[in-house]
Amino acid sequence: MNVITDSILVLENGLILRDPSTSEPERHERTLISGDTITAVNSNKLIDLTPGQVIDCSDCLIMPGLVNCHVHSAMSLFRGLADDLPLRTWLEEFIFPCEARHVSQEMVLLGSTLSAIEMALSGVTTFADAYFFMEAAAHAAINVGLRAVIAQGVVDFPTPDARTPGSWKDRAFQFFESVPSRSTITPALFCHSPYLCGTDTYLEAAEICRSHDTKLFSHVAETFTEVQQVRSKYNVTPVEFLNSSGVLDDSFVAVHCVHLTARDREILRDARVGIVHCPESNMKLASGSPRIKDLLEVGLTVGLGTDGAASNNNLDLFEEMRSASLLAKLVSNDPEAVSAGEALTMATIGGARVLGLDHMIGTLDPGKQADIIIVDLRQPHLEPLYNPISQLVYCARGSDVRDVIVAGRQIVRNRRLCSPGYDDFRKLALDFATQIATDTGKKLFLT
Ligand SMILES: [Zn+2]
Repeated sequence: MNVITDSILVLENGLILRDPSTSEPERHERTLISGDTITAVNSNKLIDLTPGQVIDCSDCLIMPGLVNCHVHSAMSLFRGLADDLPLRTWLEEFIFPCEARHVSQEMVLLGSTLSAIEMALSGVTTFADAYFFMEAAAHAAINVGLRAVIAQGVVDFPTPDARTPGSWKDRAFQFFESVPSRSTITPALFCHSPYLCGTDTYLEAAEICRSHDTKLFSHVAETFTEVQQVRSKYNVTPVEFLNSSGVLDDSFVAVHCVHLTARDREILRDARVGIVHCPESNMKLASGSPRIKDLLEVGLTVGLGTDGAASNNNLDLFEEMRSASLLAKLVSNDPEAVSAGEALTMATIGGARVLGLDHMIGTLDPGKQADIIIVDLRQPHLEPLYNPISQLVYCARGSDVRDVIVAGRQIVRNRRLCSPGYDDFRKLALDFATQIATDTGKKLFLT
């Protein structure tokens, strides 16, 4: 028997899925976590431990934490404020005016905390966020205990935290200086879209990201209207516009990619751009459906995102996996398109690759960060368990996640946050939502 004296956590029993892209679930004996790192996976070594260090995973599946590659987490405070509208109407008549009046450091902290709690309780261990006042979003991720890529928003017009035209650049440098420095936080930039950012903005933002060795995110080809706007202004597709601007490479992350030509797909593949698919946001705004089967077949790396809670309207990545698979089958008229395994891969190691974090997270391997979720399989909608991967994608819900560990620290235990203070936070968030409701002529049904 080995005796370990370091601070460690041990998972015992149940099933384990090490890597959704290459392996099948297997019977599990014991997985060891030392500090923030996985040190042994499904080992049969006996270890002398105190009971508090052991998590019994009987009747559960142990798997890598989910990676949400695109969210505007502060926007959870706008959830349900305006629905059932086209993207342009939704943005220009509701979201942009509401943002102009209400987006502040306080709003971003409260909204991002609400989102981070929702994501943690539904099995997301890493998320890529994009908005304004992003230092506050980083604090929200740290407070809840999640890993995050925090991208400061960039557009060509004044914003709540860059109030004069062109001041986005000073704000970006300030952001990189002031964002909290943690091993779990990666700062980045987010150019909103080719219709709100010009060539110079993309080029300068890309240079800043390359000099900080980080990612540049952007919505790309989300709607047919965007494609028409870019064509009428530049006489090329959005992808061709970005390519001719010189910003496409493996540090670029293209979100949505709904309306692509075959040539666009080749450009993105050759530049090794990461793709983020947000099926439920695309469906709700009737933006269209990306040809995910085609994107995977040409060799692109694809992750999944929820987009913001104002256009989804939840941040449950289990729902996103199911929608990604079903939507791909529908649009390609092919029931074999985007299998359950492919959807699960996009939500784990695929997303980790898109974010450039696959050397740290996305699979359960010794030496990787201990970002792990434990899914309770004893649920009526998950039985009988002929195929755990099928059940995870087609049947499971975020609420089936029992425990969540990020960087070796348990942040959710028995479906509850481990950190205290949720009731105090909830009151602050609902007070802020009351201001938004009053201002927009709505009311809150529960406060
Ligand atoms: Zn978005």
